Amino acid sequence: MAESNNNVANVSGNAADRAVVKAWLDRVPSRVRPDETAEKQDVARIKQLLKLRNAVLVAHYYTDAKLQVLAEETGGLVADSLEMARFGTTTTATTLVVAGVRFMGETAKILNPEKTVLMPTLEATCSLDIGCPAEEFSRFCAKFPDHEVVVYANTSVAVKALADWVVTSAIAVPLVEHLLAQGKQVIWAPDKHLGRYLQRQLGAERIVLWDGACIVHEEFKARALLDMKHLHPDAAVLAHPESPLSVLELADVVGSTSQIIRAAQQRHEQKFIVATDHGIFYKLQQQAPNKEFFMAPTSGEGATCRSCAQCPWMGMNTLSRLRLTLEHGDNEIEVSPALGARALIPLQRMLDFRSQR
Ligand code: SF4
Repeated sequence: MAESNNNVANVSGNAADRAVVKAWLDRVPSRVRPDETAEKQDVARIKQLLKLRNAVLVAHYYTDAKLQVLAEETGGLVADSLEMARFGTTTTATTLVVAGVRFMGETAKILNPEKTVLMPTLEATCSLDIGCPAEEFSRFCAKFPDHEVVVYANTSVAVKALADWVVTSAIAVPLVEHLLAQGKQVIWAPDKHLGRYLQRQLGAERIVLWDGACIVHEEFKARALLDMKHLHPDAAVLAHPESPLSVLELADVVGSTSQIIRAAQQRHEQKFIVATDHGIFYKLQQQAPNKEFFMAPTSGEGATCRSCAQCPWMGMNTLSRLRLTLEHGDNEIEVSPALGARALIPLQRMLDFRSQR
């Protein structure tokens, strides 16, 4: 694993790792046109089953708007991964139903080992998680024994268990800044784009990066975004930091999903070009109903074009899968107690850091 000049370890960017991501993508079923009558029946049944199971639905902003509506109507939560993690610890429900991707369900289980955690599908993963295998990451960390290991929440339980800190995009900058201010050096994994953004904001010398990427955000293209800005000169650009640095350099706001929503509410502009997963448009339109939102351009071609502004794994969360999960009580997240206890340490540090701010 050679390091390049910009401190990026050459791991998941190679052809073999791309092939692994592609193989996972090939397992994602094609989206089918929804049957509205069946969906209404599913919604009614899901509402009954949530009550019967003393369960609460926790949905990510990138999931289908129908799931987000359902979470809101049934006393659940629609949020980013940080707030999803916190919510599970505050609700009295004994079952958490997590609509999102696998690491979100695992995080809920680590934080709430006594609760049952179900997911509409256990197949929904994340290219960042796939691109950071624990054994390789462990060998990588061994090369930098003096560094604090900071991993993004989009990782497996085993990778979290290797870390000193877990963070989400909502607090990545303040947390790494906090560590650097203490004179520490940092290993950042797995998202290289967010890592490069941290390097640019906070200084590259003391941050070493793992080479992973989100297949959705990586598709946003700076050149096309520039053209779009010319078409809408009065629009502000809101971008998630998993996007390439060339896109972030054109943004008026770089932030997590919750920070993007807040910016759309608070900024004076009436138009916004948004560089993150399309699922966020439900919340944007709900929270800023009089404003106009445009999806930032993606390449629309290439090996991962199925992902353009729509995470294929988030898309696997459907009403029918959610109903089946609640009916059968399957798709339960299991985490080894020993590994979970180790992974809890950096997760709890993140939550404590967040609550002190
Ligand atoms: S949008 Fe990107 S980071 Fe989020 S779950 Fe999908 S692949 Fe992972």
